[in-house]
Amino acid sequence: MTIAVLGGAGYIGSHTVAQLVKAGQDVVVLDNLITGHKRAVDPKARFYQGDIRDYHFLSQAFSKEKIDGVIHFAAFSIVPESMKDPLKYFDNNTSGMITLLEAMNQFGIKKIVFSSTAATYGEPKHVPIHEDDPQVPTNPYGESKLAMEKIIKWADVAYGIKFVALRYFNVAGAMPDGSIGEDHHPETHLIPIILQAAAGTRDGLQIFGDDYPTKDGTNVRDYVHVVDLADAHILAMKYLSESNDSNAFNLGSATGFSNLEILNAARKVTGQPIPAKIGPRRPGDPSTLIAASDKARTILGWKPKFDDVEQVIATAWNWHQNHPEGFRDK
Ligand code: UDP
Repeated sequence: MTIAVLGGAGYIGSHTVAQLVKAGQDVVVLDNLITGHKRAVDPKARFYQGDIRDYHFLSQAFSKEKIDGVIHFAAFSIVPESMKDPLKYFDNNTSGMITLLEAMNQFGIKKIVFSSTAATYGEPKHVPIHEDDPQVPTNPYGESKLAMEKIIKWADVAYGIKFVALRYFNVAGAMPDGSIGEDHHPETHLIPIILQAAAGTRDGLQIFGDDYPTKDGTNVRDYVHVVDLADAHILAMKYLSESNDSNAFNLGSATGFSNLEILNAARKVTGQPIPAKIGPRRPGDPSTLIAASDKARTILGWKPKFDDVEQVIATAWNWHQNHPEGFRDK
C-alpha cells in the first residue's frame, strides 16, 4: 500500500511519516515547505515539493505514484493568526481541501485520513467532549477545519471518498530518540515556548489569562504525545481499508492540565525556574478543552503509550536541548 502524506514535512506529519516507514509502508510526501522542514522527512519517503491548492502539482504527483490512500496534514493551525487573517485559513485549509478532493476523485483515490481539531467544538457545554457534541468554533482556524469536515462528508456521499476526521486536542512531545521534533517559526504553542524559556533562548513567557472558570483560572487543555497521535493515523488508515466506512474520532488523553500546571511540570522536568507572568487573555481561546477519547480506543484500538504529561514534556525537552535551533542545527 502506498500512502501519500500531505504536509509530511510538518510537525505531526513528519512523525507520522517516520512511524509509517517503521511499519514498513511505502510513503510519498507532498509538502510546500512553507512551515515544514525537508530535513524532518524520513529519507525512505519519496518527496514532492508543491502546494495542495495547485491542482496541476497534485495531478503530476498522483500520475507518477499509485496512491492507495491520503493522510492530509497540510494546513495552517495557529489560532491567534487565524483571528488576524481568517482568509489565509479558509484559502489554505478549506479551499485546499476542495482541490485535493477533486484530484483524489480524478485519480480514483478513495481513502483520506485528515487532521481536524478540538477547535471545531468551540467553547464546550460540558467536558469531556464527545464526537457527537455540537461543533461551534470560536475562531476561524476551527471554522476552516469544520468546513473541511462538512465538505468531505458530501464528497463521500457523491464520490464515495471515505474519510476519517481525527480531531486533535493539544499535541506535544518529540520522537523519543531525539531525531525529529517541533520547530515552528514563530513558535506560538505553550510547551515549546516554555522550553525555550527554560533553555534561556527566550526571556520567560506570558500565561494568557488567569480569570477563566477553571481550577486555577488559566486555560485547561488535554495533551497527547505526537508519536501516539501519529500511530492513530496508521490505525485510522487501517480502519478505512477494513471497514470502508467514514468516521470522526477525538484524540486526547481525557485528562486536562491548566497552563500553570504545565508550567510547573516543565519546571520539574527541566530543573529550571522558567520565569512567567500572567498576561491578558488571547482572543479565540476556549476556556477548557478535554477529550472523551474512548471512541478511538474502542473502534480504532488506539492505545496511547505516553500517559504522563511529564514524560511528554521530557521528550520535547530532549529534542529542544539537542536542537535549540530546530532543523537549522547541524
Ligand atoms: N498559551 C500561553 N502562553 C503562550 C502560548 C500559549 O498562555 O505563550 C496558552 C494558550 O492561551 C492556551 C494554551 O496555552 O490556553 C495552549 O495554547 P497553544 O497555542 O499551545 O495551543 P491551542 O490550545 O491554541 O491549540
